[in-house]
Parts: sequence; C-alpha cells; structure tokens
Amino acid sequence: MFDVLISEVGPRDGLQSVKRTMSTPDKQRWIDALVAAGIQEIEVGSFVSPKLLPQMADTAQIVRHALQYPGLTVMALVPNARGAQMAIDAGVHKVTLPVSASEAHSMANVRKTRQEMLEEIAKIAQLRDQQAPHIKIEAGISTAFGCTIQGEVTEDDVVWLAQAAIAAGADESGLSDTTGMANPAQVKRLFNKVRAVIGDKTGAAHMHNTRGLGLANCLAAYDAGVRTFDASLAGLGGCPYAPGASGNVVTEDLTFMFEAMGLSTGINLQALIEARKPLTEALPGEPLYGMTPEAGLPKGFIAATSLGGQR
Ligand code: ZN
Repeated sequence: MFDVLISEVGPRDGLQSVKRTMSTPDKQRWIDALVAAGIQEIEVGSFVSPKLLPQMADTAQIVRHALQYPGLTVMALVPNARGAQMAIDAGVHKVTLPVSASEAHSMANVRKTRQEMLEEIAKIAQLRDQQAPHIKIEAGISTAFGCTIQGEVTEDDVVWLAQAAIAAGADESGLSDTTGMANPAQVKRLFNKVRAVIGDKTGAAHMHNTRGLGLANCLAAYDAGVRTFDASLAGLGGCPYAPGASGNVVTEDLTFMFEAMGLSTGINLQALIEARKPLTEALPGEPLYGMTPEAGLPKGFIAATSLGGQR
C-alpha cells in the first residue's frame, strides 16, 4: 500500500462534460498511459443511457480493456440498479453511485429523490450479493458542500445520507464537491463529522477546481483522515447538471503535492505528464489544465514513491 490512493476519474467525470465523443481506441490508449504511469484505480466510464450520454456508450468495452491490467481497480459510475447490472456483467471491481445530498440536484441528475436513491443502493447491494460478492459499492455523496440549484446543503443532511447509504448496503460513502463550492475549513469539518459516524467506511474526497481550491480542499480532507482522492488528468471534467462547475482537481498537481510532502502515491510523475499526450491527440482544442506539467518538476526533485514509498 502507498500512503494515498489517487483514483483517476477523467475517463468518466472528465469526458462527460466534453462535447466531442472520444473514440474507443483513444480511450484505451489513454488508459494504457495512465496505467503505465502507475495509476492503480480508474473510473473508466458510466453505465447510463447512451441517448443521454453518447460519450459513455462504449463503457463495457472500456471495462474489458482495463481488466487486462492486473492490480488495476476498474470502477464505473452507475446511476441505478439497471446500470449496476450492466457493470456487473462487464466485470468491474467497483461501482460508484452518485447520491445527491441536494434533493433538487438529485432530481436533475438522476430524476430520483434521495430516498429513492437509497432504495436503489439496497437493490444494487442485493444484485452484488447474489452475483458478484467481491464487487465494492461506493456511494458518492454529491453536492455535499453546496448546490448550484438548491444553494446551501446542510451538514446534517450530508452526515445522515452518508450513514443511510452504508445502512442501505454501500461499502463506503465519499463526499463530492460536484459544484466546486467547498472550502478547506468546511471540507475538514464535514469529513470529520462523517468519519465520527461511519469511521473507516468513509470513502474518497472528490474535489473540483472550479474556484481554485481543489488542492487545498484535498489537503484539508487528508488532514481529516481521508486517504483516497479522485482527480482527473489535465483537470478535465465538470457536471452537465451543475452549471458553471468545471474541472476536477488536476491529477498531475495533486500527485506532485503529495509526493513533494513525502507521501507516496505509486505514480511516476514524469510518466503521468506524458499520459497527457494521448489526451491532446484525441481531443484537439480541448483546454488542458495543470500547473505542474506547465512548470515541470523542480530541479533535483525526489518523489516519495521513488524512495520506495511502498509500505
Ligand atoms: Zn465530479
């Protein structure tokens, strides 16, 4: 195990807000490059209606491609039990279900109430138990730090939902700043509150960089005991139902931050920066973000992972 796990969500969260549909071979090349850089977990796509998101029509194929890599955790987003069944059939290791803390966002995003999403988790847990008990179920509590439609989301609502998701059968509940509204004090406080209730079942911090606070928010989550962080190569991403929300935290910058702090990620930064190449080639004209790739690594930089950071 490394000190922190960086879960790459670009092929799902990143691509869902990109207009141009990335071809299957291009997605495969991108995943190959991510794996070559040492990425250990990838959210490779979502099992949603291809009519709603044509970008994700080939997710089963992408899952099968990613499964060739031993040691790689292959994840997919599923909005409901129907999607979970497709994910199970494709052979994923882990599914993540967006459960919105904001009722308004939940209706807009998955056209279900929060209570209906909890029922969906119970159905998915049943499918998993019957067909593929090794599969992990994550509830990603979205709009946990604020909602562009509803405005404020109360912390009590978030803690209640994180706990209710576990009670319904999820293995972990993570917190997502879907709309890029979080600040570090809030992130630390809310993760502490959630951990106080569900302990080690607390999942990933999923931060967006909408207002430039992505890294600060990840560090605040780290301080609250979080060790899994979602990020997107080149900061690709957003949410089609959260106007103005753009860009996940940049994988390259997040990796640099942790490695520079002496915390191993298992990722080779130089190879990670090179993993932008298939992205540039496949999506010409798409803005790519990231300060570390622009500046390069500092002279004499020694990454924690290169010091045999594996503990
Ligand atoms: Zn996101």
